Amino acid sequence: MNAFTYRNGILHAEGVALPAIAEQVGTPFYCYSTEALVANYRAYAGAFEGQDAGVCFALKSNSNLAVVRTFAALGAGADVVSEGEFKRALAAGIPADRIVFSGVGKTRQEMRTALEAGIYQLNVESIPELEALSEVATSMGVRAPIAIRVNPDVDAKTHAKIATGKKENKFGIDWDHAREVYGKAAALPGIDPVGIAVHIGSQLTDLAPFRAAFERVVELLHALREDGIDIRRLDLGGGIGIRYRDETPPDLHEYAGMVRSITGNLGCHVTLEPGRALVGNAGILVSRVIYVKKGLHRRFLIVDAAMNDLIRPSLYDAYHAILPVAEPAPGAKTSPIDVVGPVCESGDTFALQRPLPPLASDDLIAFCSAGAYGAVMASSYNTRPLAPEVLVNGTDFAVIRPRPTVEEMLAAERMPAWLKG
Ligand code: PLP
Repeated sequence: MNAFTYRNGILHAEGVALPAIAEQVGTPFYCYSTEALVANYRAYAGAFEGQDAGVCFALKSNSNLAVVRTFAALGAGADVVSEGEFKRALAAGIPADRIVFSGVGKTRQEMRTALEAGIYQLNVESIPELEALSEVATSMGVRAPIAIRVNPDVDAKTHAKIATGKKENKFGIDWDHAREVYGKAAALPGIDPVGIAVHIGSQLTDLAPFRAAFERVVELLHALREDGIDIRRLDLGGGIGIRYRDETPPDLHEYAGMVRSITGNLGCHVTLEPGRALVGNAGILVSRVIYVKKGLHRRFLIVDAAMNDLIRPSLYDAYHAILPVAEPAPGAKTSPIDVVGPVCESGDTFALQRPLPPLASDDLIAFCSAGAYGAVMASSYNTRPLAPEVLVNGTDFAVIRPRPTVEEMLAAERMPAWLKG
């Protein structure tokens, strides 16, 4: 669903005109739609109805407490990758027994926090991590329920920086050693190997790599059962890709059908960890034009959002559609312009030679599909305060993370004794 549409010539989030939010909170700001979050979650969970499967929202994509609580209220679990995210998930109302802890470098402190709370599962990615977890669990008198994340050596056919399932990536246990590592895990006193986990990458727009990875997982499951290891859970990793421009993401029902056909008769509970698919198109970043600058050979639209607010274009060459908040007249002429932020880096570029209708200082624009890996990846580089986050619900909106003042940012730092005075 698209919650961001023009009404009477002005871009709205559901029933709220974006200039009304800009007036109250200033720019730039992130804006999320409750209706879109709910619709995306229901579509995802609904596609798996009738299967023994659960959706654990990947907090790394958007961990704002209000966003997570919106999903918690619908029955979602969580996929977390740090103690901070674990505590966020709990604070948002997701019980520990619906939380999976992923990540390549969990510390002993993080393991203890998760086990004390009664976490559903930790996904382990190396032998040293397995040994550390066993020691922590044993010292607490418990056995840690784990899945081992296996690296199936499958090409996800996505951007290199978000592909994780090839043998040269840092993630998971090599396919060739997986069986042997499960044997080791089963022999450790603090480990209960209950599942297999796999995640080959993000923004996948083709079902074939998913299918190849899941089939390998099932092959391993049978081998492990032969070895007497009772695998009862499969964690199939992140969700399907979304449409940023002209991609054709896989159909959810086709994806769910494929999962059922591969895992349906194994007696396993299936965990899905979508992030982007639930939040990506439920959020935008709204920014104001500061200047239109005419260079020697090209024009620049200098806006008040920058790479510190939304780093995806700099980091991944990602495309975000850009909409003027005031609807262009039908047939309005467009001309190419570079859309850039004010940060002192050439990489602070949102789009090169993007065809846009005429825009002037003070006009508002929206970067679309910014709900995933947007606000969570923001920094205060150049001492730019983090952009606030706003959640819209029908004709209501609320600031769900305010913009810090520069004074607050400065007050968070400390002067050593020898520099005081
Ligand atoms: N699970 C794991 C282990 C991940 O690393 C990621 C993201 O890279 C996700 C889930 C979420 O992926 P996506 O946002 O593509 O659904």
